[in-house]
Amino acid sequence: MAQGRKGKLNYRCPRCLMREIDMDMLYDAEKDEYYCLRCSFVGNEQEVLRLNAQFREKYRNRTMRITEF
Ligand SMILES: [Zn+2]
Repeated sequence: MAQGRKGKLNYRCPRCLMREIDMDMLYDAEKDEYYCLRCSFVGNEQEVLRLNAQFREKYRNRTMRITEF
């Protein structure tokens, strides 16, 4: 298990997250990118953080709308 080691932090794949799949991404130190084995999403840390934040925002808005009833 020497290859595909994880980065400092475990990030979840934003693309999988949107399909309600909880998938940890692997870190490629050479390219400084995170990648997902499941959907082959590739992105750097900032991109992953941005997409994850975007997802959280959407999700929160959705639950907020529901609780308004
Ligand atoms: Zn993925």
